[in-house]
Amino acid sequence: MPPQFCASLLSSVSSYHALTVGMAIFGVVGLVLTIAALAMKGPLFAAAVPSFAPMYMPPVPPAGTVTSRTCPKCERTNRWADRFCSACGTPLS
Ligand SMILES: [Zn+2]
Repeated sequence: MPPQFCASLLSSVSSYHALTVGMAIFGVVGLVLTIAALAMKGPLFAAAVPSFAPMYMPPVPPAGTVTSRTCPKCERTNRWADRFCSACGTPLS
């Protein structure tokens, strides 16, 4: 003996038919949404894309300026982006 809710829901052919059509529409909509998400490669299915961009880009010297820095203490030539001498650690102005 089905419960009263199911009995009233399935009491007539029209209500059973409506329930079937509703479930079918629900399933079709879900399938379409899944296919659409797959086609668009949305975030639901897309794998995490590793970023190969460097985390830090050294500053580019402006045009017309020196591209190296000479240490005032040990005369070592350092890169332009260096803030300290690579040999003695003296701050480069
Ligand atoms: Zn130095």
